[in-house]
Amino acid sequence: MKKITIRPGKERSLVKRHPWVFESSIARGGGDSGETVRVESADGQFLAWAAFSPGSQIRLRAWSFDAAERIDAAFFARRIAQAIAMRKRLAIASDAWRLVHGEADGLPGLVVDRYGDTLVAQFGSAGAERWKQAIADALLAATGLTRLYERSDAQAREWEGLPVQTGWLRGDGETALTIREHDWKLTLDVAEGHKTGYYLDQRDSRQRFAAAVRQYGCKTVLNCFSYTGGFSVAALAGGASLVVSVDSSGPALERAKAHVALNGFDAGRHEAWDADVNATLRRCLSEGRRFDAIVLDPPKFAPTAAHAERAARAYKDINRLAFMLLSDGGLLYTFSCSGGIAPDLFHKIVAGAGLDAGVDGYIVERLSAAADHPQTVCFPEGDYLKGLGILKR
Ligand code: SAH
Repeated sequence: MKKITIRPGKERSLVKRHPWVFESSIARGGGDSGETVRVESADGQFLAWAAFSPGSQIRLRAWSFDAAERIDAAFFARRIAQAIAMRKRLAIASDAWRLVHGEADGLPGLVVDRYGDTLVAQFGSAGAERWKQAIADALLAATGLTRLYERSDAQAREWEGLPVQTGWLRGDGETALTIREHDWKLTLDVAEGHKTGYYLDQRDSRQRFAAAVRQYGCKTVLNCFSYTGGFSVAALAGGASLVVSVDSSGPALERAKAHVALNGFDAGRHEAWDADVNATLRRCLSEGRRFDAIVLDPPKFAPTAAHAERAARAYKDINRLAFMLLSDGGLLYTFSCSGGIAPDLFHKIVAGAGLDAGVDGYIVERLSAAADHPQTVCFPEGDYLKGLGILKR
């Protein structure tokens, strides 16, 4: 077993059970891509078993902080069983949920979503890649399912120096699926959709939005960055009379339109605008339009903390425009899924946007990823998705 020694003082995060070690914290030692290494402090104390990522800034990702634990196929079966057991305790209002959420489930770099009877996995680290076959076997054994599609095409693969890989890892057949979320039917394609096919992390917020649209009597709704219209269906279910989905992806909007019909809503209550959100907000403003509710759910403007400053300006800009477009008493549902923007910073950005727009608001909701995308005590970076529901004053 290869050994990695951490520079004096740099062992602190591992001692606190944070699973990442950056390249600059390593004194000596190395390994092959994804190889399990023993990590020790400068004075030779065991710290963790970790996977080595030669090409990544995050050079080590800890599998276990228990010196007695062996990292083998049985280890992955245990961690996967634990992750599944946690989800069984949740009341998930869907037949699609996240089974494994990387670091939070003690499996850094591994994401597994379940859509009905189909599993979709992303192997986002050298360690997860190395154990792919054992992980695939454990997933099928633990779930009793037979279909596992690989979507190893996220940006993290590139940072890890791993090639894009997609396709059936186990089983085969149709990649186009229909799922149920709350009372709604939604379709997706695990081969082509964003992430593993759908944004499962917004499930709870979509339901809250439907309830809020009803509660506050919102009639006109602008759903920015709509993707396939999850929040649009929610708004229609909440009683909105006109919902506009805005996205720059034509195929996503086609699906949004199909979702309106699939859920029995009159197509006349929905418009799909294939456009840039920023330009759309400005155009609506110049036309004097107002909306009773606006959703802002942009893509990750800041993938890491290094992008935070530029991202902050981009978030502030769209939030400022949205505040100005809201009817009096209107509802803003605003999100950031950037790991590099902490919740308190996001709050400050939205506050600055309100100030610039000359608008104050009541925070009526604090939103985060659904519980099947868990946050853990030791891994604050897991708090990537945050949102605020704000009623214009
Ligand atoms: N709210 C969605 C998820 C949004 S993901 C849901 O609940 O499922 C972000 C979306 O923003 C993607 O669909 C992407 O196509 C879109 N997008 C990214 N940049 C954009 C831009 N400048 N203008 C419009 N849409 C954009």
